[in-house]
Amino acid sequence: MRAGIFIVALIVSTWAGLVSAKAPAASAGAHSTPAALSELRERALGDPLAMRLLESLTSEIGARQAGSEKFVRARDWAIKNLQALGFQNVHTEPFTLNAWTRVEERAQIVAPYPQKLAIIGLGGTTPTPAGGLDGEIVLFRKYAALLEAPTGSLSGKIAVVTEPMAPGLAGYAALGKARRQGPNEAAKRGAIAYLVRSLGVGSTRLPHTGFMSQDAPTVPAAALSAPDAELLERIVDRGTPVRIHLELASSVHPAQSWNTVGEIPGATAETVLMGAHLDSWDVGTGADDDGAGVAIALAAARLAGETRLRRTVRVVLFGGEEIGIAGPAYVQYNAKNLKGIVIAGEADAGSEPAVEARLPGSGAQDPALADLPTALGPLGVHWGSERSSDGGPDIEPMNDSGVPGLEVMQRMENYFRWHHTEDDTLDKVVPGELSQNVATWALLLRVMADRSVAFQTQTPARPK
Ligand code: ZN
Ligand code: ZN
Repeated sequence: MRAGIFIVALIVSTWAGLVSAKAPAASAGAHSTPAALSELRERALGDPLAMRLLESLTSEIGARQAGSEKFVRARDWAIKNLQALGFQNVHTEPFTLNAWTRVEERAQIVAPYPQKLAIIGLGGTTPTPAGGLDGEIVLFRKYAALLEAPTGSLSGKIAVVTEPMAPGLAGYAALGKARRQGPNEAAKRGAIAYLVRSLGVGSTRLPHTGFMSQDAPTVPAAALSAPDAELLERIVDRGTPVRIHLELASSVHPAQSWNTVGEIPGATAETVLMGAHLDSWDVGTGADDDGAGVAIALAAARLAGETRLRRTVRVVLFGGEEIGIAGPAYVQYNAKNLKGIVIAGEADAGSEPAVEARLPGSGAQDPALADLPTALGPLGVHWGSERSSDGGPDIEPMNDSGVPGLEVMQRMENYFRWHHTEDDTLDKVVPGELSQNVATWALLLRVMADRSVAFQTQTPARPK
């Protein structure tokens, strides 16, 4: 399969090389010449817009969970700013959800050494009975060990998984199931509750929330801070049964959310789409996740499209990424128009510098994009040494429907220190790093919207 793609790419690139020597105007684009890209890059690096937008969003709205009153205010903020920045066709695309609201949460060790535990309920968890529940814990140092426990073996117990996450996106992906599926797996084995060491890095006592599967069976579930997970390990090592009291109160109500859209119209119906998600969890102010992406998308699209391009640049601010519903809602709402989207990507990896941009298949080797390494090089961004796996969490359903995905990898050294915690706040964002992302995306959007280059689809679609 790979060899076949390679040979086709070689033939195409040789052919394109011959043709382009005679007729470069076919796909070159007047607004993405080396001089135009160089000027765009330098201006983006000095543009304060993204930081100004992120300061505004985090100060005037703060946390903005899909289905909450604050999200409605965030949606209005997005509409207002899209319009003020000159985007056209600004509109919202509604969908419904069951909105989960955190009420009150606490946990403590009851025996043998009573003390408080720092926890946070996982997003969407079922509540404990009023007044909480008590149980002896069964502690697993690896998530795989919980999966090996037989059905019924945790009857009446609180299952605790304390496996630490390896750093970076790979570590997050590898242990993600412990948070998403852990409550189901504990329930299947008879547990009455589930605690998981926070998916994150660092040693803060702030626990990290995040999405958990809503499938049955399930039990009340919360994340422990890293130091509290280690505390429980030390107490368990002493050999005495450990009992915990856990109280999780929450409510659920039917609600509405919206994907918010704005466009910079091009000369054709073809569209280059850039997304970010406007919703956040209910803790912190959603600065890095994903206020940064919202700010990058608005600033980069505006710069890329300040001159009339061949293709439309569309910004989509998704309204429910954290619970996995905004991407499918976009595909459902736009089912008839997806073919017009030639490429789609999402900024949802915080504000640390971009390090590499990727396309599906051998697309990054397309001769029509041969100048991108030169354009991106001064930013420290590599071009296409690997193929994209998808265009981002909200783009993936589009990729599955045949829309090619543009993926921009970022350094994520610090992201998982405060991801989904009370500490995801503006002070963590380095203005120069945010601008580097704006410059990266502005160059990519400009080139891809200015030229008639065709992109390959994700083949095969990423395994689920
Ligand atoms: Zn995110
Ligand atoms: Zn998130």
